[in-house]
Amino acid sequence: MGVLDYDVAVVGAGFGGLGAALSLAERGAKVLLCESLNYPGGCASTFRRHGYQFEAGATLFSGFGPGQLFHDWIEAHSLPVTIDFIDPLVELRAPGFELLARADRDALIGQFLAIPAAPVARLKAFFAEQARIADALWSIMQAPELLPPFGPMELLRHAARVPRYLPLVRAVGRPLSSVLARHGLEDFRPLRIYLDAISQITVQCAAAEAEAPFALATMDYYFRGTGHVRGGIGSLAWALLRAFTSLGGDARLTTRVQSLRRRDDHWEIVSRKGTWRARKVVANLLPQDVRRLTALTERNPFLDRLSAQVEDGWGAVMLYRVIRPPSGAGAAAHHLELVADPTKPFTEGNHVFCSISGERDEGRAPDGLRTMTVSTHVPLATLRRLEASDQAALISSIQRRMRQTLDRMAPEWAADVRHEMTASPRTFARFTGRHLGYVGGIPRRVGLGHYRDLIPPPALPDLHLVGDTVFPGQSTLATAIGGVKIAERLAGELGLRRSQARGRAAS
Ligand SMILES: Cc1cc2nc3c(=O)[nH]c(=O)nc-3n(C[C@H](O)[C@H](O)[C@H](O)COP(=O)(O)OP(=O)(O)OC[C@H]3O[C@@H](n4cnc5c(N)ncnc54)[C@H](O)[C@@H]3O)c2cc1C
Repeated sequence: MGVLDYDVAVVGAGFGGLGAALSLAERGAKVLLCESLNYPGGCASTFRRHGYQFEAGATLFSGFGPGQLFHDWIEAHSLPVTIDFIDPLVELRAPGFELLARADRDALIGQFLAIPAAPVARLKAFFAEQARIADALWSIMQAPELLPPFGPMELLRHAARVPRYLPLVRAVGRPLSSVLARHGLEDFRPLRIYLDAISQITVQCAAAEAEAPFALATMDYYFRGTGHVRGGIGSLAWALLRAFTSLGGDARLTTRVQSLRRRDDHWEIVSRKGTWRARKVVANLLPQDVRRLTALTERNPFLDRLSAQVEDGWGAVMLYRVIRPPSGAGAAAHHLELVADPTKPFTEGNHVFCSISGERDEGRAPDGLRTMTVSTHVPLATLRRLEASDQAALISSIQRRMRQTLDRMAPEWAADVRHEMTASPRTFARFTGRHLGYVGGIPRRVGLGHYRDLIPPPALPDLHLVGDTVFPGQSTLATAIGGVKIAERLAGELGLRRSQARGRAAS
């Protein structure tokens, strides 16, 4: 083998790719990062149109608490990023029920306990079980070195934690709703609405379908160093990209990788701007896109399994608005989760997540105006079965429903709309390159299959997947952690040192 251009080529600067690239650069690897857009972040980016700046998809992020990945990166690399720990994080509104999602667990639970005739003891028992399971799983996820594959030290640390893992046993292979039923809470409507709402945005399915340990763990979403990134998540994505280049990483924006070709012992990364050779590839892509870029025709059990799970998932329908906020609105960024009819699926405009920039988000909109990102789920398999004209009609009807839900459930934020743009799965496919616009990763519907790929194998020799389709996946923080985990593995294979920049002690 001659001298290769790079140790590792990372395809895609979403948070999975950014996490892997930065972490590899921290370890001294020679890394190429190719991104087809002219800005990083993918589904978690901030884009500019008509002089306004909008969050493309993701708007609220965990991982900014001490000892957590984003916090540690901000400290270690002196990233110019400000986190606003807004309170409440989210305002949930449904007919006859409102809740402020607070960063403080007791403050959130207290709202359920204060509901007249609430089953207080059962609620406390349910949330105590939830906290035990979430603690066990987050402590693993926040310490990427505790995710598989394990070395002897990690096995010892896991052995010491076995009592913490025991509560998991009763939840594995069961839907979240069965845990509720065990606590006699299946008919307590406010909790049911809350769980359906948070499950839909985290594990991407309703409480009745959600694999309980995943859903119980992601219920901690609001309590885990969660906040708003001042100016938009793009500022974090850019800061991570710059930290990567300041460590010697080679970042190439507007560089779409057209194909990945396996040569004897390395990969060729082909784009219109050049062809490079790297020992290993990290693909921040959906499994279907890996297949396309590598021109893989034969069966591949891992990619095939993941592809099938992705295709059981979602596309996003979006409204991007410029609004004048209601008089008396606070200066902080604001997030609203609206449910028009809790008896219907939390999708297709019946449920919307709506994020409004704050006054301190400079550059997002002129003084006195705010930008708003509104999203809802659409089942992509259903959409794909329709003729093109019917697809367009369905997307339009979902957007109409989103507007109605906003008008009915948050009239004060919908009263003065100055500008609106729309987006659909086709928009996501076009901008992020994601196969048919599938977003949100793999719905964690009940099943033991989810535990099978906790150790994602290489998709192809020396080619690893990162992003929301591989464990831990499914949020901006989780995809970045997955990237770090892959970096750790590749650094070991390349004989590189452990990360110098982050010396986080696992709890
Ligand atoms: C509407 C919506 C709302 C969400 N809300 C939240 C939220 O509030 N909080 C949260 O934590 N998560 C949220 N998420 C989930 C979160 O955005 C994702 O889990 C995460 O951003 C996915 O990152 P990724 O690394 O998997 O991939 P992506 O973000 O898809 O990044 C992949 C990157 O690869 C690039 N690329 C693709 N093909 C090529 C190629 N051939 N060559 C070069 N580059 C290429 C793309 O341009 C893109 O930048 C939301 C997602 C959506 C869609």
